[in-house]
Amino acid sequence: MPFVYDDLEYFMVREIPVKRKRLAEEQMYHLVTGLNGYLGLSIKLMENPHASPLHIGSGELELDNDGVYQAVSRNKSNPVIPGSGIKGAVRTFAEALGPCCLEGNCRNDLLLCPCCTLFGTLGFQGRVAFTEAVSTAELKTAKLPLPVRWGGKNQGGRRFYWHDNCESWVHSDIGSVERLEVILPPAEFLTTCYFQNLRDEELGFLFLAIGVPPDNKFSLKLGGGKNRGLGSVTISTQEIILSGNNRHASLTLPPALHDNSNLIKNTTAAYLTSLTPSELSQVQENLVAFQKESFRKLSPQELKQRFMDRAERQEGRKR
Ligand SMILES: [Zn+2]
Repeated sequence: MPFVYDDLEYFMVREIPVKRKRLAEEQMYHLVTGLNGYLGLSIKLMENPHASPLHIGSGELELDNDGVYQAVSRNKSNPVIPGSGIKGAVRTFAEALGPCCLEGNCRNDLLLCPCCTLFGTLGFQGRVAFTEAVSTAELKTAKLPLPVRWGGKNQGGRRFYWHDNCESWVHSDIGSVERLEVILPPAEFLTTCYFQNLRDEELGFLFLAIGVPPDNKFSLKLGGGKNRGLGSVTISTQEIILSGNNRHASLTLPPALHDNSNLIKNTTAAYLTSLTPSELSQVQENLVAFQKESFRKLSPQELKQRFMDRAERQEGRKR
């Protein structure tokens, strides 16, 4: 018997009142006066002695002869890094390198922070996008038994982790174990970062957040298991293509500028000089922290002691 709708409510879920907000003038897209173009980026996993495998989880649990493991994200059979994951990681670093809100919390159109105007927030589309990063060669994967990720209260702010060799975590005999599928170094991925209508200092801010300016290079962390020595990557620019101002409005495409040797330096300088002295000192402090080659290798005993200390503290809190 066919199903008969006997009530209009079946058709209507709920009417949600939508009120379009007026955007500030400088945020209107038809006023495209800034820089448009794309960056060809290479993402390399850190290699020995600080070898850092990469776990970009697919969210799926899979099964092999040794049990359940968390699989990496794939397109067909090839491991890939989804563009949203790269953008998220870059935004995390950007939030620490500018006068920005945390996690896109700006709601006032007239007063969006640099991260929300660049990467977007609720009701405001970002002007930067990354494509799925694919590998240039055959990738090797492995399933690493690592201590399970732990909770712990966020005290506010963001956590950034040191770059660390993950070896000390594998079979470290602490707590329970989860098996993560990882991509092993050496590995290189290529992605394209498209940007539109950026001011010079905004492009500089983007360069700074991906860690490429010659004076301010640093490596980022990407994916899962960051606190267990995974996900250290270095991003570099392979090509920078500017397509000129307002090309969609004029329908004329100025010749691409292939020589961008000073673009990174100049735009980054423009960004840094746009900051107030107190903002600048905070940004510089964080840059120094990110640049610090503070690779630490904990002995298994130290690791175990750490876990026991924490278990004790948690036990204490519960009581
Ligand atoms: Zn914001």
